[in-house]
Amino acid sequence: MLDLLIQNATLPDGRERMAVAVQEGKIVEVSSSLTASAHQLIDAQGMLLCPPFVDAHFHMDATLSYGLPRVNQSGTLLEGIAVWGELKPELTQQALVERAMTYCDWAVAKGLLAIRSHVDVCDERLLAVDALLEVKRRVSPYVDLQLVAFPQDGLLRGAQGPQQHMNNLKRALDRGVDVVGGIPHFERTAEQGAASIRLLCELAAERGLRVDMHCDESDDPQSRHVETLAYETQRLGLQGRVTGSHLTSMHSMDNYYVSKLLPLLAEAQLHVVANPLINITLQGRQDSYPKRRGMTRVPELLASGINVAFGHDCVMDPWYALGSADMLEVAHMGMHVAQMTSQSAMRECFAAVSVNAAKALGLQAYGLSPGCFADFVLLQARDPVEAIRLRANRLMVFRRGKLLAQTPATTCQLHLANRPEQTCWMV
Ligand SMILES: [Zn+2]
Repeated sequence: MLDLLIQNATLPDGRERMAVAVQEGKIVEVSSSLTASAHQLIDAQGMLLCPPFVDAHFHMDATLSYGLPRVNQSGTLLEGIAVWGELKPELTQQALVERAMTYCDWAVAKGLLAIRSHVDVCDERLLAVDALLEVKRRVSPYVDLQLVAFPQDGLLRGAQGPQQHMNNLKRALDRGVDVVGGIPHFERTAEQGAASIRLLCELAAERGLRVDMHCDESDDPQSRHVETLAYETQRLGLQGRVTGSHLTSMHSMDNYYVSKLLPLLAEAQLHVVANPLINITLQGRQDSYPKRRGMTRVPELLASGINVAFGHDCVMDPWYALGSADMLEVAHMGMHVAQMTSQSAMRECFAAVSVNAAKALGLQAYGLSPGCFADFVLLQARDPVEAIRLRANRLMVFRRGKLLAQTPATTCQLHLANRPEQTCWMV
Protein backbone atom coordinates (compact mmCIF):
# COMPACT_ATOMS: atom_id res chain seq x y z
CA MET A 1 0.00 0.00 0.00
CA LEU A 2 1.40 3.38 -1.06
CA ASP A 3 1.57 6.30 1.36
CA LEU A 4 0.37 8.80 -1.23
CA LEU A 5 -0.84 8.64 -4.81
CA ILE A 6 -1.46 11.74 -6.89
CA GLN A 7 -3.41 11.07 -10.07
CA ASN A 8 -4.32 13.05 -13.15
CA ALA A 9 -1.50 15.59 -12.79
CA THR A 10 0.20 17.59 -15.52
CA LEU A 11 4.00 17.75 -15.15
CA PRO A 12 6.26 20.71 -16.08
CA ASP A 13 7.60 18.82 -19.11
CA GLY A 14 4.07 18.70 -20.57
CA ARG A 15 3.11 15.10 -19.78
CA GLU A 16 -0.58 14.94 -18.88
CA ARG A 17 -2.76 12.57 -16.83
CA MET A 18 0.28 11.38 -14.87
CA ALA A 19 0.30 9.55 -11.55
CA VAL A 20 3.00 10.08 -8.93
CA ALA A 21 3.38 7.40 -6.26
CA VAL A 22 5.03 8.04 -2.90
CA GLN A 23 6.40 5.64 -0.34
CA GLU A 24 8.40 6.59 2.78
CA GLY A 25 9.02 10.16 1.70
CA LYS A 26 10.30 9.34 -1.77
CA ILE A 27 8.79 9.17 -5.25
CA VAL A 28 8.67 5.50 -6.24
CA GLU A 29 6.88 5.69 -9.58
CA VAL A 30 5.77 8.25 -12.15
CA SER A 31 3.60 6.85 -14.91
CA SER A 32 0.50 7.34 -16.99
CA SER A 33 -1.10 4.05 -16.05
CA LEU A 34 -0.80 3.54 -12.35
CA THR A 35 -3.57 2.15 -10.20
CA ALA A 36 -2.66 1.15 -6.69
CA SER A 37 -4.19 1.56 -3.28
CA ALA A 38 -2.80 4.34 -1.13
CA HIS A 39 -3.41 5.81 2.31
CA GLN A 40 -3.94 9.19 0.70
CA LEU A 41 -5.32 9.59 -2.81
CA ILE A 42 -5.43 12.97 -4.55
CA ASP A 43 -7.03 13.82 -7.89
CA ALA A 44 -5.00 16.72 -9.34
CA GLN A 45 -7.75 17.38 -11.91
CA GLY A 46 -5.22 18.11 -14.65
CA MET A 47 -3.42 20.81 -12.68
CA LEU A 48 0.36 21.27 -12.71
CA LEU A 49 2.42 19.29 -10.21
CA CYS A 50 5.95 20.67 -10.00
CA PRO A 51 8.97 20.27 -7.76
CA PRO A 52 9.14 22.93 -5.03
CA PHE A 53 10.31 26.44 -5.81
CA VAL A 54 13.92 27.22 -4.95
CA ASP A 55 15.25 30.70 -4.17
CA ALA A 56 18.90 30.88 -5.25
CA HIS A 57 19.60 34.26 -3.64
CA PHE A 58 18.09 35.82 -0.54
CA HIS A 59 18.94 37.89 2.55
CA MET A 60 17.04 36.38 5.45
CA ASP A 61 18.86 38.44 8.10
CA ALA A 62 17.40 41.65 6.64
CA THR A 63 13.96 40.40 5.66
CA LEU A 64 10.79 42.01 7.08
CA SER A 65 12.82 44.90 8.52
CA TYR A 66 11.41 47.50 6.11
CA GLY A 67 11.35 50.96 7.72
CA LEU A 68 13.84 50.01 10.48
CA PRO A 69 15.33 52.34 11.52
CA ARG A 70 14.21 54.38 8.50
CA VAL A 71 13.11 53.98 4.89
CA ASN A 72 15.67 54.08 2.05
CA GLN A 73 14.75 57.44 0.46
CA SER A 74 16.84 57.29 -2.71
CA GLY A 75 16.06 53.61 -3.35
CA THR A 76 19.69 52.93 -4.29
CA LEU A 77 21.84 49.93 -3.38
CA LEU A 78 24.30 52.20 -1.55
CA GLU A 79 21.68 53.90 0.63
CA GLY A 80 20.26 50.43 1.35
CA ILE A 81 23.68 49.32 2.59
CA ALA A 82 23.84 52.51 4.74
CA VAL A 83 20.36 51.88 6.25
CA TRP A 84 21.32 48.27 7.01
CA GLY A 85 24.51 49.60 8.69
CA GLU A 86 22.34 51.86 10.91
CA LEU A 87 20.08 48.95 11.84
CA LYS A 88 22.87 46.49 12.64
CA PRO A 89 23.73 47.83 16.14
CA GLU A 90 20.02 47.65 17.09
CA LEU A 91 19.47 44.06 15.96
CA THR A 92 18.61 41.43 18.51
CA GLN A 93 18.87 37.73 17.93
CA GLN A 94 15.27 37.19 18.99
CA ALA A 95 13.89 39.75 16.53
CA LEU A 96 16.01 38.30 13.71
CA VAL A 97 14.82 34.77 14.44
CA GLU A 98 11.17 35.83 14.67
CA ARG A 99 11.26 37.73 11.37
CA ALA A 100 13.05 34.87 9.59
CA MET A 101 10.61 32.30 11.00
CA THR A 102 7.68 34.39 9.75
CA TYR A 103 9.31 34.59 6.32
CA CYS A 104 9.73 30.78 6.27
CA ASP A 105 5.99 30.43 7.00
CA TRP A 106 5.32 32.60 3.96
CA ALA A 107 7.79 30.55 1.93
CA VAL A 108 6.11 27.24 2.76
CA ALA A 109 2.70 28.72 1.91
CA LYS A 110 4.13 29.63 -1.53
CA GLY A 111 5.73 26.22 -2.10
CA LEU A 112 9.24 27.64 -1.67
CA LEU A 113 11.09 24.85 0.16
CA ALA A 114 14.77 25.63 -0.46
CA ILE A 115 16.42 29.00 0.07
CA ARG A 116 20.05 30.11 -0.20
CA SER A 117 20.41 33.09 2.10
CA HIS A 118 23.45 35.30 2.44
CA VAL A 119 24.18 36.30 6.03
CA ASP A 120 26.23 39.36 6.96
CA VAL A 121 29.44 38.32 8.77
CA CYS A 122 30.88 41.83 9.33
CA ASP A 123 29.40 42.13 12.81
CA GLU A 124 31.99 41.03 15.37
CA ARG A 125 29.28 39.36 17.48
CA LEU A 126 28.07 37.25 14.52
CA LEU A 127 24.59 37.92 15.82
CA ALA A 128 22.88 37.36 12.45
CA VAL A 129 24.93 34.22 11.84
CA ASP A 130 23.84 32.66 15.12
CA ALA A 131 20.23 33.74 14.54
CA LEU A 132 20.07 32.20 11.06
CA LEU A 133 21.83 29.02 12.17
CA GLU A 134 19.08 28.71 14.79
CA VAL A 135 16.44 29.33 12.10
CA LYS A 136 18.12 26.76 9.83
CA ARG A 137 17.87 24.18 12.63
CA ARG A 138 14.24 25.01 13.40
CA VAL A 139 12.99 24.97 9.80
CA SER A 140 15.04 21.94 8.70
CA PRO A 141 11.97 19.63 8.79
CA TYR A 142 10.32 21.75 6.10
CA VAL A 143 12.75 24.17 4.41
CA ASP A 144 16.32 23.58 3.23
CA LEU A 145 18.08 26.77 4.29
CA GLN A 146 21.59 27.13 2.88
CA LEU A 147 23.68 29.97 4.36
CA VAL A 148 26.39 32.03 2.65
CA ALA A 149 29.01 33.92 4.71
CA PHE A 150 28.65 37.39 3.22
CA PRO A 151 31.09 40.21 4.05
CA GLN A 152 28.57 42.99 3.30
CA ASP A 153 30.99 45.85 4.11
CA GLY A 154 33.73 44.38 1.90
CA LEU A 155 36.29 41.76 2.98
CA LEU A 156 39.22 44.18 2.56
CA ARG A 157 37.33 47.48 2.84
CA GLY A 158 35.26 46.98 6.00
CA ALA A 159 36.00 49.16 9.05
CA GLN A 160 37.37 46.32 11.17
CA GLY A 161 40.20 45.59 8.73
CA PRO A 162 40.88 42.63 6.44
CA GLN A 163 42.26 40.33 9.14
CA GLN A 164 39.24 40.75 11.37
CA HIS A 165 36.77 40.33 8.50
CA MET A 166 38.48 37.14 7.36
CA ASN A 167 38.42 35.86 10.96
CA ASN A 168 34.70 36.63 11.28
CA LEU A 169 34.04 34.85 8.01
CA LYS A 170 36.02 31.77 9.08
CA ARG A 171 34.26 31.73 12.47
CA ALA A 172 30.91 31.81 10.66
CA LEU A 173 31.98 28.82 8.53
CA ASP A 174 33.22 27.01 11.66
CA ARG A 175 29.79 27.46 13.23
CA GLY A 176 28.04 25.81 10.27
CA VAL A 177 27.54 28.39 7.52
CA ASP A 178 27.67 26.42 4.26
CA VAL A 179 28.99 28.65 1.46
CA VAL A 180 31.72 31.32 1.01
CA GLY A 181 30.41 34.72 -0.14
CA GLY A 182 32.00 37.98 -1.28
CA ILE A 183 31.35 41.44 -2.74
CA PRO A 184 34.35 42.31 -4.96
CA HIS A 185 32.77 45.35 -6.70
CA PHE A 186 32.31 47.01 -3.30
CA GLU A 187 36.01 46.76 -2.35
CA ARG A 188 38.02 50.00 -2.66
CA THR A 189 39.73 49.27 -5.99
CA ALA A 190 39.47 46.77 -8.82
CA GLU A 191 42.75 45.24 -7.59
CA GLN A 192 41.34 44.80 -4.08
CA GLY A 193 38.21 43.27 -5.57
CA ALA A 194 40.33 40.73 -7.45
CA ALA A 195 42.40 40.07 -4.31
CA SER A 196 39.22 39.41 -2.30
CA ILE A 197 38.04 36.89 -4.91
CA ARG A 198 41.37 35.07 -4.79
CA LEU A 199 41.40 34.89 -0.98
CA LEU A 200 37.79 33.75 -0.73
CA CYS A 201 38.04 31.13 -3.49
CA GLU A 202 41.22 29.76 -1.90
CA LEU A 203 39.39 29.50 1.42
CA ALA A 204 36.50 27.65 -0.27
CA ALA A 205 38.89 25.25 -2.05
CA GLU A 206 40.74 24.60 1.22
CA ARG A 207 37.51 23.75 3.04
CA GLY A 208 35.74 21.96 0.18
CA LEU A 209 32.93 24.54 0.13
CA ARG A 210 30.87 26.19 -2.57
CA VAL A 211 31.22 29.87 -3.47
CA ASP A 212 28.47 32.41 -4.15
CA MET A 213 29.56 36.02 -4.58
CA HIS A 214 27.64 39.20 -5.10
CA CYS A 215 29.56 40.12 -8.22
CA ASP A 216 29.48 43.24 -10.39
CA GLU A 217 26.19 44.52 -8.96
CA SER A 218 26.86 47.77 -10.72
CA ASP A 219 26.02 49.71 -13.89
CA ASP A 220 29.73 50.28 -14.47
CA PRO A 221 30.71 48.38 -17.65
CA GLN A 222 34.26 48.27 -16.31
CA SER A 223 33.19 46.19 -13.32
CA ARG A 224 34.60 42.89 -14.61
CA HIS A 225 35.11 40.85 -11.46
CA VAL A 226 33.20 37.91 -12.91
CA GLU A 227 36.19 37.39 -15.19
CA THR A 228 38.40 36.90 -12.11
CA LEU A 229 35.77 34.71 -10.45
CA ALA A 230 35.75 32.40 -13.50
CA TYR A 231 39.58 32.41 -13.57
CA GLU A 232 39.93 31.47 -9.89
CA THR A 233 37.23 28.82 -10.31
CA GLN A 234 39.30 27.21 -13.07
CA ARG A 235 42.63 27.63 -11.28
CA LEU A 236 41.38 26.01 -8.07
CA GLY A 237 39.32 23.23 -9.68
CA LEU A 238 36.03 24.59 -8.35
CA GLN A 239 34.10 24.09 -11.60
CA GLY A 240 30.36 23.69 -11.06
CA ARG A 241 30.61 24.82 -7.43
CA VAL A 242 30.76 28.59 -7.91
CA THR A 243 27.93 31.07 -8.44
CA GLY A 244 28.15 34.66 -9.63
CA SER A 245 25.16 36.56 -8.25
CA HIS A 246 23.72 39.65 -9.96
CA LEU A 247 26.36 40.29 -12.70
CA THR A 248 24.37 43.40 -13.60
CA SER A 249 27.38 45.20 -15.11
CA MET A 250 27.16 42.68 -17.98
CA HIS A 251 24.06 44.60 -19.07
CA SER A 252 26.22 47.67 -19.74
CA MET A 253 29.35 45.95 -21.05
CA ASP A 254 30.73 46.23 -24.53
CA ASN A 255 29.31 43.46 -26.74
CA TYR A 256 32.74 42.41 -28.00
CA TYR A 257 33.99 41.90 -24.45
CA VAL A 258 30.87 39.88 -23.55
CA SER A 259 31.50 37.62 -26.56
CA LYS A 260 34.87 36.79 -25.00
CA LEU A 261 33.47 36.52 -21.46
CA LEU A 262 30.56 34.09 -22.05
CA PRO A 263 32.76 31.11 -23.11
CA LEU A 264 35.00 31.73 -20.07
CA LEU A 265 31.99 31.53 -17.73
CA ALA A 266 30.79 28.37 -19.50
CA GLU A 267 34.26 26.80 -19.27
CA ALA A 268 34.31 27.44 -15.49
CA GLN A 269 30.79 25.95 -15.24
CA LEU A 270 29.78 29.04 -13.32
CA HIS A 271 26.18 29.28 -12.12
CA VAL A 272 24.62 32.70 -12.57
CA VAL A 273 21.85 34.17 -10.43
CA ALA A 274 19.87 37.16 -11.66
CA ASN A 275 17.56 38.93 -9.22
CA PRO A 276 14.96 40.50 -11.54
CA LEU A 277 12.82 42.35 -8.97
CA ILE A 278 15.81 43.95 -7.29
CA ASN A 279 17.97 44.49 -10.38
CA ILE A 280 15.21 46.40 -12.17
CA THR A 281 14.63 48.45 -9.01
CA LEU A 282 18.20 49.29 -8.02
CA GLN A 283 20.09 49.55 -11.30
CA GLY A 284 20.05 52.50 -13.68
CA ARG A 285 19.52 54.94 -10.81
CA GLN A 286 22.20 57.33 -12.06
CA ASP A 287 20.75 57.30 -15.59
CA SER A 288 18.37 59.96 -16.79
CA TYR A 289 16.81 58.68 -20.03
CA PRO A 290 17.14 56.18 -21.54
CA LYS A 291 17.35 54.23 -18.27
CA ARG A 292 19.16 50.91 -18.35
CA ARG A 293 17.30 47.81 -17.15
CA GLY A 294 20.41 46.61 -15.38
CA MET A 295 19.68 42.87 -15.31
CA THR A 296 22.38 40.53 -16.57
CA ARG A 297 22.13 38.98 -20.06
CA VAL A 298 19.97 35.99 -19.18
CA PRO A 299 19.05 34.69 -22.70
CA GLU A 300 22.65 34.99 -23.90
CA LEU A 301 23.99 33.20 -20.79
CA LEU A 302 21.47 30.39 -21.29
CA ALA A 303 22.35 30.14 -24.98
CA SER A 304 26.00 29.69 -23.95
CA GLY A 305 25.04 26.65 -21.87
CA ILE A 306 25.38 28.45 -18.52
CA ASN A 307 22.98 27.54 -15.73
CA VAL A 308 20.92 30.63 -14.81
CA ALA A 309 18.66 30.84 -11.77
CA PHE A 310 16.53 33.71 -10.47
CA GLY A 311 16.56 34.88 -6.87
CA HIS A 312 14.13 36.95 -4.82
CA ASP A 313 17.06 38.72 -3.08
CA CYS A 314 14.96 40.96 -0.84
CA VAL A 315 11.51 41.05 0.76
CA MET A 316 10.51 44.11 2.82
CA ASP A 317 14.02 45.25 3.76
CA PRO A 318 16.25 48.34 3.26
CA TRP A 319 16.50 47.58 -0.48
CA TYR A 320 12.96 46.54 -1.41
CA ALA A 321 9.57 47.35 0.11
CA LEU A 322 7.50 44.57 -1.47
CA GLY A 323 7.48 40.78 -1.90
CA SER A 324 5.78 37.74 -0.37
CA ALA A 325 8.13 34.77 -0.95
CA ASP A 326 6.43 34.19 -4.30
CA MET A 327 9.01 32.86 -6.77
CA LEU A 328 6.41 33.04 -9.57
CA GLU A 329 6.44 36.83 -9.09
CA VAL A 330 10.22 36.67 -9.55
CA ALA A 331 9.85 34.56 -12.72
CA HIS A 332 7.16 36.97 -13.97
CA MET A 333 9.47 39.98 -13.59
CA GLY A 334 12.45 38.07 -15.03
CA MET A 335 10.44 37.20 -18.12
CA HIS A 336 9.56 40.87 -18.67
CA VAL A 337 12.97 42.41 -17.98
CA ALA A 338 14.80 39.85 -20.16
CA GLN A 339 12.05 39.93 -22.82
CA MET A 340 11.85 36.13 -22.65
CA THR A 341 8.45 35.94 -24.31
CA SER A 342 8.58 32.80 -26.47
CA GLN A 343 6.93 29.66 -25.08
CA SER A 344 10.30 27.99 -24.49
CA ALA A 345 11.79 31.15 -22.93
CA MET A 346 8.85 31.49 -20.53
CA ARG A 347 9.33 27.85 -19.50
CA GLU A 348 13.00 28.66 -18.96
CA CYS A 349 11.89 31.42 -16.51
CA PHE A 350 9.91 28.77 -14.61
CA ALA A 351 13.02 26.54 -14.56
CA ALA A 352 15.04 29.51 -13.22
CA VAL A 353 13.00 29.44 -9.99
CA SER A 354 12.90 25.65 -9.73
CA VAL A 355 15.24 23.15 -11.39
CA ASN A 356 18.03 25.63 -12.36
CA ALA A 357 18.08 27.10 -8.86
CA ALA A 358 18.23 23.59 -7.35
CA LYS A 359 21.25 22.92 -9.55
CA ALA A 360 23.01 26.11 -8.39
CA LEU A 361 22.43 25.10 -4.75
CA GLY A 362 23.61 21.54 -5.41
CA LEU A 363 20.37 20.07 -4.02
CA GLN A 364 20.24 16.27 -4.03
CA ALA A 365 17.24 14.11 -5.02
CA TYR A 366 15.32 17.14 -6.35
CA GLY A 367 12.76 16.60 -9.09
CA LEU A 368 9.82 14.48 -10.13
CA SER A 369 11.55 11.20 -10.94
CA PRO A 370 11.56 7.89 -9.07
CA GLY A 371 14.15 8.12 -6.27
CA CYS A 372 13.65 11.85 -5.72
CA PHE A 373 12.29 13.21 -2.47
CA ALA A 374 8.48 13.44 -2.49
CA ASP A 375 8.62 17.24 -2.40
CA PHE A 376 6.18 18.96 -4.75
CA VAL A 377 3.61 21.67 -5.24
CA LEU A 378 0.20 21.40 -6.86
CA LEU A 379 -0.60 24.66 -8.61
CA GLN A 380 -3.93 26.09 -9.76
CA ALA A 381 -2.61 26.27 -13.33
CA ARG A 382 -2.27 23.78 -16.14
CA ASP A 383 1.28 24.50 -17.29
CA PRO A 384 4.35 26.57 -16.31
CA VAL A 385 3.40 29.51 -18.55
CA GLU A 386 -0.08 29.73 -17.02
CA ALA A 387 1.53 29.42 -13.58
CA ILE A 388 3.67 32.51 -14.28
CA ARG A 389 0.78 34.41 -15.87
CA LEU A 390 -1.48 33.89 -12.85
CA ARG A 391 1.24 33.73 -10.15
CA ALA A 392 -0.83 30.64 -9.53
CA ASN A 393 -2.33 29.59 -6.26
CA ARG A 394 -0.43 26.88 -4.40
CA LEU A 395 -3.24 24.40 -3.82
CA MET A 396 -1.08 21.91 -1.93
CA VAL A 397 2.55 21.87 -0.82
CA PHE A 398 4.17 18.54 0.07
CA ARG A 399 7.53 17.67 1.56
CA ARG A 400 8.68 14.06 1.97
CA GLY A 401 5.12 13.10 1.05
CA LYS A 402 3.56 15.06 3.93
CA LEU A 403 1.15 17.94 3.36
CA LEU A 404 2.67 21.20 4.67
CA ALA A 405 0.32 23.85 3.33
CA GLN A 406 -2.99 24.16 1.54
CA THR A 407 -4.71 27.10 -0.15
CA PRO A 408 -8.30 26.84 -1.43
CA ALA A 409 -8.75 27.19 -5.18
CA THR A 410 -9.53 30.78 -6.15
CA THR A 411 -12.68 31.54 -8.10
CA CYS A 412 -14.42 34.85 -8.40
CA GLN A 413 -18.23 34.91 -8.25
CA LEU A 414 -19.56 37.20 -10.96
CA HIS A 415 -22.86 39.06 -10.77
CA LEU A 416 -23.25 40.03 -14.43
CA ALA A 417 -26.26 39.70 -16.71
CA ASN A 418 -25.95 36.99 -19.38
CA ARG A 419 -22.39 36.10 -18.33
CA PRO A 420 -20.95 33.05 -16.49
CA GLU A 421 -21.45 32.92 -12.74
CA GLN A 422 -17.75 32.63 -12.03
CA THR A 423 -14.27 32.93 -13.47
CA CYS A 424 -10.80 31.71 -12.46
CA TRP A 425 -8.94 33.51 -15.23
CA MET A 426 -8.44 30.44 -17.42
CA VAL A 427 -9.71 30.15 -21.00
ZN1 LIG B 1 22.00 39.95 -2.51
